[in-house]
Amino acid sequence: MLLENKQVAIIGGGMGGLLLARLLQMQNVNVKVYERDNDDKVRVQGSPLDLHEDSGLKAMEKADLLKEFYANVRPNASKARIVNKDFELKFDEHSIKKSHSELNSKPNTNSLQDISKPRPEIDRSILRSILIQSLLPETIVWNSHFTVMEKENKGWRLHFKNETSFYANLVIAADGANSKVRSYLNAEKPIYSGITMLEGTIYNAKENTPNLFEFSKGGKVLAFGNEQTIMYGTKGDDSLMFLLSSKIPENWISESNLDFKNNQEVFEWFKEFYPEWSSKWHELLLSNELYFIPRPQYYFPLDQTWKTQENLTMIGDAAHRMPPFAGKGANLAMLDALELAECLTGNQFETSENAITYFERQMLERASRATEDTLKNGEQLHSKNALEKLVDIFNATKMQ
Ligand SMILES: Cc1cc2nc3c(=O)[nH]c(=O)nc-3n(C[C@H](O)[C@H](O)[C@H](O)COP(=O)(O)OP(=O)(O)OC[C@H]3O[C@@H](n4cnc5c(N)ncnc54)[C@H](O)[C@@H]3O)c2cc1C
Repeated sequence: MLLENKQVAIIGGGMGGLLLARLLQMQNVNVKVYERDNDDKVRVQGSPLDLHEDSGLKAMEKADLLKEFYANVRPNASKARIVNKDFELKFDEHSIKKSHSELNSKPNTNSLQDISKPRPEIDRSILRSILIQSLLPETIVWNSHFTVMEKENKGWRLHFKNETSFYANLVIAADGANSKVRSYLNAEKPIYSGITMLEGTIYNAKENTPNLFEFSKGGKVLAFGNEQTIMYGTKGDDSLMFLLSSKIPENWISESNLDFKNNQEVFEWFKEFYPEWSSKWHELLLSNELYFIPRPQYYFPLDQTWKTQENLTMIGDAAHRMPPFAGKGANLAMLDALELAECLTGNQFETSENAITYFERQMLERASRATEDTLKNGEQLHSKNALEKLVDIFNATKMQ
């Protein structure tokens, strides 16, 4: 096996990095995950995730974690209610007698159709816990914020903010959209998609935003109007996460001078920027225990490539950052983990360079297609007739 007696370092303990560590450990590889979080108790930000059969679920099955996954799926979480900006209900998946998951999906003629497909959904923090618990003790080196690395012998010496340093024969970047490791393979800058999302998380949402919490029925609410969107959903810990999304210039965050820690300021901005939206939405912005993260959406060029190195590669968002409008990013990160583990631990390749070359080629082709899909979806979801289009697509899936 190519990794026999080798030390593997994975930078970043997100979905991709943790799953890769699990799959490598199943083949007795010496692997460490260097994660910048202080410990496993840090509140995991971000939306729930629905896993796709041909990627996320396939990888969980190979990692022998499907049982743990299904024990934690939230059955109503993937059901959608679609409303307009005045909060009028236009489509309600909860009222469909035949459950969405019993329906077969039409052939995929439109990438937007993909997001109406039924899929098991899990809270991100729970999925992360499942993956953490599947690893041998001390696999994850917490509080390890990667800063730089240099070549040493045939591998790399890695340096971290806390002034520790470690040697590894093979380094895998899984440090997400703002990867620091990526620059050692590819210096290309990401391209702004034209869309910025403002993510809000409300803790104790049952108390802090009671009407919207109840309206969601434990699923998702998608709202469209004026080429803008609001999407929200609840999580198993009674928090609610929402995303305000619109076409905004790239430098909006710095130029607006908005203080995202000042909720009143953000509320004033919302009233000005979403003027025609019903005041029923204000409950989101006026909640207690509300925290914002602005997320401008970037992607890497569809034809990106780099020169393969025998002791360094990358997976997930580090390799193929893209907007989330196709709901594929975490699924792709997990499939990358599976395919890279198989290339490195199977008997198909004689050298690490050949294994990595093969892996990167497949990954880049897949990522390019997904990026194209998500950009197309982003355009459609922020178009004038987004509401009608999405309702049609959900209804078409319902009629099958
Ligand atoms: C609003 C939103 C909604 C989304 N919805 C979906 C969805 O429904 N379905 C889907 O499949 N995908 C979705 N995605 C995309 C998905 O979240 C990402 O594609 C996925 O998390 C990528 O996984 P990853 O392991 O590559 O990176 P990440 O999950 O970002 O993990 C990176 C890890 O690296 C750590 N790290 C970062 N820098 C360093 C460093 N310097 N040193 C050490 N550690 C570091 C981080 O702390 C983190 O733990 C969504 C994204 C957003 C923003």
